[in-house]
Amino acid sequence: MDLELTERERAFQAEAREWLAAHVPAAPLPSGDTAEGFALHKQWEKQLHAARWAVVSWPRAYGGREASLMEWLIFEEEYYRAAAPQRISQNGIFLLAPTLFEFGTQEQKDRILPRMAAAEELWAQGWSEPNAGSDLAGIQSRALRVDGGWRLTGQKTWCTRGAFCDWMFGLFRSDAAATRHKGLTYFLVKLDSPGVTVRPVARLDGDAGFAEVFLEDALVPDADVLGPVHSGWSVAMATASSERGLTLRSPGRFTAAAARLIELWKRRGAHADPGLRDAVVRAWMDAEAYRLYTLGTVTKLAAGGQLGADSSLNKIFWSEMDVRLHETALDLLGPAAELAEGPDAAWMKGYQFALAGPIYAGTNEIQRNVVAERLLGLPKG
Ligand SMILES: Cc1cc2nc3c(=O)[nH]c(=O)nc-3n(C[C@H](O)[C@H](O)[C@H](O)COP(=O)(O)OP(=O)(O)OC[C@H]3O[C@@H](n4cnc5c(N)ncnc54)[C@H](O)[C@@H]3O)c2cc1C
Repeated sequence: MDLELTERERAFQAEAREWLAAHVPAAPLPSGDTAEGFALHKQWEKQLHAARWAVVSWPRAYGGREASLMEWLIFEEEYYRAAAPQRISQNGIFLLAPTLFEFGTQEQKDRILPRMAAAEELWAQGWSEPNAGSDLAGIQSRALRVDGGWRLTGQKTWCTRGAFCDWMFGLFRSDAAATRHKGLTYFLVKLDSPGVTVRPVARLDGDAGFAEVFLEDALVPDADVLGPVHSGWSVAMATASSERGLTLRSPGRFTAAAARLIELWKRRGAHADPGLRDAVVRAWMDAEAYRLYTLGTVTKLAAGGQLGADSSLNKIFWSEMDVRLHETALDLLGPAAELAEGPDAAWMKGYQFALAGPIYAGTNEIQRNVVAERLLGLPKG
């Protein structure tokens, strides 16, 4: 592929860079996984939307710029470079939206996407249950057919920012006679509906970002079923593929972190173990390698290809790279890392979150099973 940016892409990059330089808040916002931080991030999302930077690759009618995937990557790179706020809209715009574009009815797209883009409605992901995380096909929450819709009953857990979101997408067993991957349906659930109780769960770092969601005969109209009834597994796998393979973690996040690590080395390296120099170089090379690999993925998609089981390789790579990169930063900071103030304080919080990377979006053990069985053709373990 040609790695040189076209004139149009360069102009797009310059426009994004200029806007971000003028608008990114000078001081970082409080964590978007707290009530106070979430409200401030929501305002930021609205600002992005007003300037048409919230969902650059979407159609104009829904608030986008019809940017190519390549331009989306450029925007992401600029976004992280500018140290702009975390995207609290990510479960909606990066996970649900690609699935809505593929499986949603025209009515669903016209109703949901503009409000999602404008951060008027924020989305949580409701897949995991207390007894079904890795084994998603083992979910027990169920949907009962009633006149005009479905009544949902069960419990979802670990819903990121679910305590503050307006809607949740999730899988439910709609055919009680079916087992495993069959008889599941993908529902869109309004979290303030009667019969829905949202309970915040505090995280290790003190933020109350997670939620458990309890459903007791909550009514969901037919209009909020996404994709075919009883075939929700394939709809959910489309969400999982785009999450692991491209949209959840764009390379800009890691190239920006590697650049910050190099800056930290320049400040602290003289006092640090010289062996850490190699770890810093490796972090930079890994981030660049991930960037090039993603360009390959985007080229494949632009040529009509699809994301498949190789998304699992991608997820293993970025999640493990992120842990190593943050460990290197903490080693550079030394024993004071936990007490660091100012910009260096972000490394400890970033490390704690990086540790979750090999767990969320499907654990790395599960990704390795997928790689072994579906890419390498090894027998089932
Ligand atoms: C930061 C964070 C955010 C999250 N956000 C969300 C969210 O928004 N929505 C949501 O629905 N969920 C979310 N989750 C939950 C996440 O998807 C689950 O934690 C994950 O799928 C693992 O499920 P589990 O916790 O039930 O662990 P388990 O499935 O019980 O796994 C326990 C351990 O056993 C291993 N294991 C299990 N089965 C196998 C196997 N067949 N082969 C090899 N090893 C195996 C796992 O890899 C893991 O190490 C989030 C999790 C984290 C950490």
